[in-house]
Amino acid sequence: MELRLALGLALLCSALQAAPAGPQRPRSAVGQFWHVSDLHLDPTYHITPDRTKVCASSKGVNASNPGPFGDFLCDSPYQLILSAFAFMNDSKEQVSFMIWTGDSPPHVPINELSTKLVISIIGNLSSTIRNFFPDLQVFPALGNHDYWPQDQLPVTTSEVYNAVADFWKPWLNDEAISTFRKGGFYTQLFESSNSHQPLRIISLNTNLYYSPNKVTVNITDPANQFAWLEDILETSSQKQEKVYIIGHVPVGYLPYARNTTAIREYYNERLVKIFRKYSSVIAGQFFGHTHRDSIMVLLDEEEKPVNSLFVAPAVTPVKSVLQTESNNPGVRLYQYDLFDYSLLDLWQFYLDLRDANKKNESNWKLEYILTKTYGIEDLKPESLYEMAKQLSMPHSTLFEQYYSNYIVSYNKTILCEEGCKTCQICAIQYLDSSSYTDCINREAMWR
Ligand SMILES: [Zn+2]
Ligand SMILES: [Zn+2]
Repeated sequence: MELRLALGLALLCSALQAAPAGPQRPRSAVGQFWHVSDLHLDPTYHITPDRTKVCASSKGVNASNPGPFGDFLCDSPYQLILSAFAFMNDSKEQVSFMIWTGDSPPHVPINELSTKLVISIIGNLSSTIRNFFPDLQVFPALGNHDYWPQDQLPVTTSEVYNAVADFWKPWLNDEAISTFRKGGFYTQLFESSNSHQPLRIISLNTNLYYSPNKVTVNITDPANQFAWLEDILETSSQKQEKVYIIGHVPVGYLPYARNTTAIREYYNERLVKIFRKYSSVIAGQFFGHTHRDSIMVLLDEEEKPVNSLFVAPAVTPVKSVLQTESNNPGVRLYQYDLFDYSLLDLWQFYLDLRDANKKNESNWKLEYILTKTYGIEDLKPESLYEMAKQLSMPHSTLFEQYYSNYIVSYNKTILCEEGCKTCQICAIQYLDSSSYTDCINREAMWR
């Protein structure tokens, strides 16, 4: 209830701010969609006095503080996943669709999973989503864990692609299903009754480009996905469609590691080139995989911002025992302009895991509203670029806020300074190798 009221006020405020001084422009109508990622169900999770036995995903290490909604050293108990979808459902937010960017199985050693188990977990979570939202259009994408052995997604049809295609038939049309069976990617139009033009969703299988994927080493265009993507974008541009790109492993540089792209560098360069060429068609890009909350803004060769990219945090709170930080479970809501599908805002929701376990109650809450927190007008490339410039200022308190959001309020006392901040700042604005390297060198001189 409180949420609905807050949302109403926020819409009103942004509409008032946006009202032009000159001739009356019609107030833009707003659409919404959910984004969930990295559910990583651990079916073995259970509360037991022997903390090494709470979950297989802790890999023999003591769970830290296990409770009904999970533990920071474990992947998601089913109850956590149920609480996330129950929250989304109970929020009564009017959404036109949901995107789901992959990674359903747990982080466990290879021999503890199998093709059969991986398929059954993806099937289980696909039906969980269908049960909560029987009438909602869902656009899913495959993750690097949605295969066995993990990361080794193939360039031709496979048992997993076929089984998953069958699970996703209620959401996808015949043509999408047929391309999906061949390479784990698809495109589909989303026709909305409140919009004058349809939206094209392109669900990429970026796992084919993921560095640990041995199947695709030395293949210039795995599963011919690049050729297919260029073809779709070319047609879209001729038809003046708008496109959302969804995928699991993001393009660009990892915000937590220096000089490391998530996908192989050669593939990254190629994707960046395609996204620049068709930036006027692409109205947004949405990824998962890092389990953290981050943004990227794609610049063209003249450093003009041309695309907005978002990495949504995970539902799973898991971290390895060596990592100092993790993330609270998160789900997010995007708002877009029904007229041109440009992105207006995002509402990040989260579960304070320690608090939920203590109270034995899952109180999912709003973490932040992007435009409000960072003082920008909308989520268009120009606005995100403005935000990035603010964040990169020395001693920026906004950056401290950004970093706290990056780890989904896991721990407010963890700071990201110097080298850590350099990596974050360069990863936000520079997605290709030459501009990223320039940024790192420039920042190193400053600090
Ligand atoms: Zn993941
Ligand atoms: Zn992943």
